[in-house]
Amino acid sequence: MTTRTLLRSGHVISMDPGIGDLAQGDVLIEDGRITAVEPEISADAEVLDMSGHIVIPGFVDTHRHTWEAPIRGVAPDATLDDYFVDILDTFAPLYTPQDVYAGNLAGALECLNAGITTLVDWSHINNTPEHPDAAIQGLAESGIRAQYAYGSANTSLAEYWFESRIAIPADDVRRIRSTHFASDDGLLTMGLATRGPGFCVDEVVAAEWAMARELGLPITVHVAMGRLAGRFGMVKQLHDLGLLGPDTTYVHSCHLSGEEWRMVADSGGTVSVAPQVELQMGHGWPPVMQAIEYGLRPALSIDVVTTVPGDMFTQIRAAFGAERARVNADCWQSNMPVPSNMLTARQMLEIATLNGAHVAGLEDRTGSLTPGKRADIVAIDATAVNVAPVHDAVAAVTLCADVSNVDTVLVDGVIHKRDGRLLGDTARALRLVGEARDRLLEAKEAKGARAPA
Ligand SMILES: [Zn+2]
Repeated sequence: MTTRTLLRSGHVISMDPGIGDLAQGDVLIEDGRITAVEPEISADAEVLDMSGHIVIPGFVDTHRHTWEAPIRGVAPDATLDDYFVDILDTFAPLYTPQDVYAGNLAGALECLNAGITTLVDWSHINNTPEHPDAAIQGLAESGIRAQYAYGSANTSLAEYWFESRIAIPADDVRRIRSTHFASDDGLLTMGLATRGPGFCVDEVVAAEWAMARELGLPITVHVAMGRLAGRFGMVKQLHDLGLLGPDTTYVHSCHLSGEEWRMVADSGGTVSVAPQVELQMGHGWPPVMQAIEYGLRPALSIDVVTTVPGDMFTQIRAAFGAERARVNADCWQSNMPVPSNMLTARQMLEIATLNGAHVAGLEDRTGSLTPGKRADIVAIDATAVNVAPVHDAVAAVTLCADVSNVDTVLVDGVIHKRDGRLLGDTARALRLVGEARDRLLEAKEAKGARAPA
């Protein structure tokens, strides 16, 4: 029997150019798939009243280290250099599989609560073979759509992050691929989270890229950020190794040269920008407009909740503000008028939804309210005191709303949040993530006590 859900009488922003916006519209879902988006639909269905709500595609976070949820806010003032020491060298080696499970479960619920329906989980916490299974279990239990990107171990900064000679273990990647991801059609799909040139020696880079391609896994890699990697010329090095391709997402990309931007664009690669992190931690300016100027469709990402908020509204505002600030500053310097083609609020919504699906390699199934796509849908309460009255529904979402206004969230047609409340066992996830925090702090203290003076 077909299960039908009808979202009735919302202000629909479809992000599908063929459908556009409907000031009052209905969305019909059949067995988890969007089958119609029209001004009025009559169907024998469970009806969700969307009057007073703005209905949008779910946000897509194209890069987050979800395992860090137990150490949320632990490094508020960190630079990227500090982060390597304070997080990757201090906390990451102490993570047990239970900590990763708790982090991924609570982190994914945090995403759903904030209207993020698709997540690329950049999981470089595979200290033992039990860690990836725990990470995947956390994602699966949350019900989020995610690309699980298998990353390196983090047992030692020196061994894994500077001229590393240790490749991600191919046998275990194969095991995870065949155990959990025999098909690429599920709610969870798989990728490979690689470190890249500079962080690894060339032989390791070549081995990891070859493994990803052998197993048909999309590649995600941090490039061109901060004082260190900003100078590696990582994309140029990948080009010289003959490894660039359309299966690769370049995260940050703040200090790419013009030549490297062309290489990314010409090879069909994609770009994930984490604006709040990049502005705050010294990665560089978030290169949203640069990516657009090279013909790319950049997406947004949260990256680390150790240091920045975990929601997409923050990222939209950070990128929008930073890019317009740059243009205004240049125009002030040259005493020229501000150009008319500055980034717009609507572009920001497209970047946070449809472009995200493109970058995650999932545009065929999510990112817009298009018949045929899976039903990943968010409703924003437009009657809230910080959103009403609405003049421009796109502005209401991108510039007025926040997490407190995320009223309803569906993933794959399944309702995960309704009337502003998560339906899953949030209390259990919070208890587990709190226990993980306690265990990690205790282990950190014990390690400190053992360290030579
Ligand atoms: Zn990252």
